[in-house]
Amino acid sequence: MAGTPPVSSFSPFLRYIPNSRSSTLTLIRSSSSPVTSPVSMDTPRETRKVVVCGGGVIGVCTAYFLAKNGAAVTLVEKSAIACAASGKAGGFLAFDWCDGGPISALARASFNLHRSLSQELDGPKSYGYRALTTLSLTISESQKPSTPSNSSSKSTGNSVVPSWVDGPVQNTRTIGNTETTAQVHPQLFTRTLLSNAMEKYGVEVVIGKLEKLTLEGGRFQSVVLEDGRVINADAVVLALGPWSGKFEALSSLFRVYGLKAHSIVLEPKEPEAITPHALFLGYYPAQGGRPIDPEMYPRPTGEVYLCGMSAVAEVPENPEEITPNPESISVLKRVAKTVSSRLGEEEAELKAEQACFLPCTDDDLPVIGKLPGVSECYVATGHSCWGILNGPATGAAMAELILDGESVIVDLNRFSPARFVGRERNR
Ligand SMILES: Cc1cc2nc3c(=O)[nH]c(=O)nc-3n(C[C@H](O)[C@H](O)[C@H](O)COP(=O)(O)OP(=O)(O)OC[C@H]3O[C@@H](n4cnc5c(N)ncnc54)[C@H](O)[C@@H]3O)c2cc1C
Repeated sequence: MAGTPPVSSFSPFLRYIPNSRSSTLTLIRSSSSPVTSPVSMDTPRETRKVVVCGGGVIGVCTAYFLAKNGAAVTLVEKSAIACAASGKAGGFLAFDWCDGGPISALARASFNLHRSLSQELDGPKSYGYRALTTLSLTISESQKPSTPSNSSSKSTGNSVVPSWVDGPVQNTRTIGNTETTAQVHPQLFTRTLLSNAMEKYGVEVVIGKLEKLTLEGGRFQSVVLEDGRVINADAVVLALGPWSGKFEALSSLFRVYGLKAHSIVLEPKEPEAITPHALFLGYYPAQGGRPIDPEMYPRPTGEVYLCGMSAVAEVPENPEEITPNPESISVLKRVAKTVSSRLGEEEAELKAEQACFLPCTDDDLPVIGKLPGVSECYVATGHSCWGILNGPATGAAMAELILDGESVIVDLNRFSPARFVGRERNR
């Protein structure tokens, strides 16, 4: 086990004050579309038809567990599967880092589910699942790097720092071990899960934008896409990530805002020199000011992923329109080469520079459960910086809630959207 488990303040993503945003009306209360009759309320469990909207990790995990448990699932995604945060995240997983907080049980259950999914789906080969050692360390840009060492590791403080970390690091601490921390490649994970759901359990994927829901007598009837297509179902799950804030049925009840975060992916010339150590950095820029806290994850593919530099920003309509801020990218490049001479321009190829949005809520908790006032309409969003970790347990819990009426794997009461009813919202 790690020593003192890190708390959420380790994450750079939870420290920012949200902005307000506008929304459009997307829920209509009576059916006027040319739809066929929905499946009967008494449809047996095996044939319940569910539409899941949003092809990020949350929507895909929900579709997977619903279909595995007998539902007929259609997944609607407006762009491409895992095109947004679920494809561009770090993919870091921690068993006990959320302990003492409201998402502790969700995180623990999900960490364990990741482990069993990896066994089921050949995670190490299919999507780079592996256990990690995780270090916290501080590093100052203005200090000279130490001479690169040929030994496999060196000791600073009370922790072992791998030799590829040859920058001027200090205050190193082991904060996770191979029992408590792990990683996946988030895009490969999400896409592998979906292809299994399609092949083994018959999930269908529709590329199209959810425009509105139709209801009859307060009960969900169908999903209407922007191009006019209509999908009838017994239930709908809205897993729209940071775009939840643009969907009136959700934004009229609670706020989801986007925290834009940046990342780069590097391919060092000698990938075998990079050991499976995740690094949580306190980085002091040369020009002074407060330290920033980027995170570095070497991947079994030989790539090194580095993220940080986040700020609240307006979420563009299309995921393809999200462009990184060049200054943020150049800071990340400087961080990379300060941490390791193997990650400078000469020694590593830049494979990607990108940005994406964390879906955040006003009370920093995900929103998972039944939408109040509408029968058979469910939501799963607001997972902030832990969506890859918490995707599997969220999906499994949603499947139980929809198919059995109650989630056993995790108590969802704390995350219910009903908590926002009558609550004054931040603007
Ligand atoms: C830089 C960065 C690093 C991160 N690192 C980690 C990490 O190491 N570990 C971790 O656990 N989490 C991490 N996260 C958080 C994690 O990525 C998110 O919590 C998670 O991806 C959110 O998943 P989602 O499915 O809710 O949203 P998204 O991935 O944003 O997916 C939402 C999907 O809905 C689709 N959509 C939106 N509107 C519509 C519509 N009207 N119709 C149809 N489809 C629609 C979008 O196109 C998109 O594909 C990180 C996030 C960032 C930004």
